[in-house]
Amino acid sequence: MIKVLFAAGWPRWKQYKHALSMAMAKAGLEAELSQSHGPEETDYIVYAPNRRFSDFAPYKRAKAVLSLWAGVEDIVTNETLTQPLARMVDSGMTEGMVEYVTGHVLRHHLGMDAHIVNPGHDWIAKPPPLARSRPVTVLGLGELGAACARSLAALNFPVTGWSRSKKRLRGIRCLAGLEGLDAALSEAEILVLLLPLTTGTEGLLDAQRLAQLPNGAVVINPGRGQLIDDNALLAALDSGQIGHATLDVFREEPLPEDHPFWAHPSVTVTPHIASETRAETAAQVIAENIRRSEAGEPLLHLVDRKAGY
Ligand code: NAP
Repeated sequence: MIKVLFAAGWPRWKQYKHALSMAMAKAGLEAELSQSHGPEETDYIVYAPNRRFSDFAPYKRAKAVLSLWAGVEDIVTNETLTQPLARMVDSGMTEGMVEYVTGHVLRHHLGMDAHIVNPGHDWIAKPPPLARSRPVTVLGLGELGAACARSLAALNFPVTGWSRSKKRLRGIRCLAGLEGLDAALSEAEILVLLLPLTTGTEGLLDAQRLAQLPNGAVVINPGRGQLIDDNALLAALDSGQIGHATLDVFREEPLPEDHPFWAHPSVTVTPHIASETRAETAAQVIAENIRRSEAGEPLLHLVDRKAGY
């Protein structure tokens, strides 16, 4: 019997218990799921950041830690974690992110806020350009960034994508490394951030890089708050260099009540809802990884601890 410790918090347990049991059975695994397996009996740890669990050291028997989150910055530097760490790549989460990004890109591209008129508004008949003349850049071409880039390209946006290693994606201009970043930013009328938080990406969008964007560019950040220098963004919004910022993630969450983002007329705040792991599809990923591990096959979505993602 495989013992799986669910260390992802009580509210998620209610959400995942049934889905995980079903997925284990479907994968042909005899597993006992619990929130209270002890360290000496736990074979796998299903994990999401929570206040009650941060010491992995006693779990010497555990063969892997399986994260329910795609972003692993909270755990990757945990020195007690010596077990292999797999992050979450979930088709449901990818679908959700594609919908969030496409929706918010279209809002800005179409100028929906200005063009939905009410009595008393100015009747300004200035239709938006076609998507084909609105360059969009996606920073990060991983699971989520590549899916969003493809969806935007399918709508005819000229899409540039940027990543650490060079990619080849049909219909997308792919740039890589710091040498590719200047070109990725310089034409981006709409910029989407889908990078993980690492030492290489923290504070990436600073005053200098914001100044490289075309005047009036829109920034959409469903990646991580720490990718952006908040003060530099506020200054760029005040000057009009950045036309609007749609932010889903923040240095501190929930966003503190006195944070200037709340009151800024050119900022849209969403409460870290761009996309979430969906229990039904994610449970299948967890079960498949346990099946692989038991069969001596390599785990899916292993985190590169050195790179931090
Ligand atoms: P992923 O598959 O690991 O992709 C990360 C991408 O970023 C890769 O293309 C990677 O380049 C690139 N990258 C990493 N470091 C870089 C650097 N220093 N310079 C240039 N490119 C760099 O991650 P994912 O699944 O797409 O998720 C991305 C992030 O989205 C997560 O880490 C998380 O923070 C965020 N997220 C947010 C929500 C939400 O609801 N707001 C939900 C899920 C995830 P390579 O391809 O060359 O490795």
